[in-house]
Amino acid sequence: MTLFRKSLVWFRRDLRDFDHAALHQALRQSSAVYCAFIFDRSILDGLPAADRRVEFIHESLRELDEALRARGGGLIVRHVDARAGVPALAAELDVDAVFANHDYEPFAVGRDAAVADALVAAGRTWLSFKDQVVFEKDEVVSKAGKAFSVFTPYKKAWLAALHAAGDGCIAPWPTEGLPGRLLPPGPAGNGVPALEALGFARTNLAALPLGTGMSGGARLLERFSERMAEYGSARDFPSINGTSLLSVHLRFGTVSIRGLARRAVERMRSGQGTEGAATWLSELIWRDFYFMILHHHPRVAGAAFRPEYDRIEWERGERAETLFAAWCEGRTGYPLVDAAMLQLLRTGFMHNRLRMVTASFLIKDLGVDWRWGERHFALHLNDYDLAANNGGWQWAASSGCDAQPYFRIFNPVTQSERFDPKGAFIRHFLPVLGALPDKAIHAPWLAQPKVLAGAGVVLGADYPLPLVQHDEARRHTLVRYGAIRGAAVEVNENAATGFDDA
Ligand code: FAD
Repeated sequence: MTLFRKSLVWFRRDLRDFDHAALHQALRQSSAVYCAFIFDRSILDGLPAADRRVEFIHESLRELDEALRARGGGLIVRHVDARAGVPALAAELDVDAVFANHDYEPFAVGRDAAVADALVAAGRTWLSFKDQVVFEKDEVVSKAGKAFSVFTPYKKAWLAALHAAGDGCIAPWPTEGLPGRLLPPGPAGNGVPALEALGFARTNLAALPLGTGMSGGARLLERFSERMAEYGSARDFPSINGTSLLSVHLRFGTVSIRGLARRAVERMRSGQGTEGAATWLSELIWRDFYFMILHHHPRVAGAAFRPEYDRIEWERGERAETLFAAWCEGRTGYPLVDAAMLQLLRTGFMHNRLRMVTASFLIKDLGVDWRWGERHFALHLNDYDLAANNGGWQWAASSGCDAQPYFRIFNPVTQSERFDPKGAFIRHFLPVLGALPDKAIHAPWLAQPKVLAGAGVVLGADYPLPLVQHDEARRHTLVRYGAIRGAAVEVNENAATGFDDA
């Protein structure tokens, strides 16, 4: 006997029909189950007309719809405001319950509460489940029962919790062989509308090596599994295909976090490529960590985790606008920074090492408020995720939980020499510098005039002169940060020497 006659599963950032907590629970507790996705106008209406994320969702929905149809179901797709649209659809379909997976972003938490209230007021049930993380909220806490704010002890406790659960927490949630059956959309559904009908144009997404949907995610995972052993040594070099590129699939749930964690754990236990797998699992744990931080401290969406850092005096007015525009457009005169910013604009992806370098450059070389950079990334990253993005920016600004010390300032030139030694990444995105020798490509303004002439580069015309001098900018930053900490700048400068560019 099932609990509910008919239910609705509301898909959001979980666009798959396998290993899915809400779909599993709905099919377990209901006789019949509809599936729906809402293109939420309250989100979409604020986006530019060409947005790779909307196209990614659109393509992934087509595959999900097909997969559900093959099982006798199908997707109902609406383009409405979700707050009103979900309760209205539940009424139209006459379902007893709506099932969804937890979303931890403050906007989504408010939206889900409003939807739940409307459903309950109409005599229906709202049920929501953990799905997009391995451990959430208060599942991993300190011995004193407190939420962690430092990663290393959190990770230790996370691994202990995994062990204690006998891996139960990374077991899949099956969606087949359950009492419920999937219902076809019937008159409520017309298939997935064309992208253009939603008011969006195609982007270059199809030309990127990401793929879309469950098949795209599975393909990337298989390819990455072959390289996982080398992850620890390859992950920091942006010109190497060293990371998984799975972030956009994790963002939209076309892969299951449990499946990825299982893959890493199995690899660790197999004794082959153990180190690479352990490092990769650590990154997945960082992801859980930032979701947990956002849950406990939703104010970080807009404010520093350490409130004293909100007193920093950032650059203001026209100067700030000019510096920021040059950073956004890849015109700072620092080749690695510029190449990274162009990678973001042209592909919607930026390598993790470069996210750290460009964020540090904006904050600590240009003195621009980290929130400006956070917003720019939010607009352009395919994998944009409030929790991870905010965590990354606050880490770079030294204002976050477990952030780098404020006197640790990346040197954009030595970062370039270290992580793009032959300039392969720079040459790809800045072909204008392509003929410069390896030694000169990281700081062209230091090159001999004949070297520049030989490479056909006129600085200030073909490629900008540096916007700021790093050493000078670094001194300003130490003063800026020292002021809010009430610390003697000289002392901090001394302390800084060993940490610059760590
Ligand atoms: P891999 O190296 O293969 O890692 C596997 C997965 O682990 C990633 O897909 C991601 O889900 C997770 N992960 C890896 N590093 C981190 C991290 N530092 N924090 C949290 N999760 C991590 N990641 C996002 O998913 N969305 C963002 O909006 C985002 N913004 C960032 C902003 C800044 C300033 C910084 C420094 C980092 C940001 N990151 C963000 C984290 C990281 O850069 C990306 O997750 C990673 O580059 C994605 O590439 P990948 O899938 O090949 O990662």
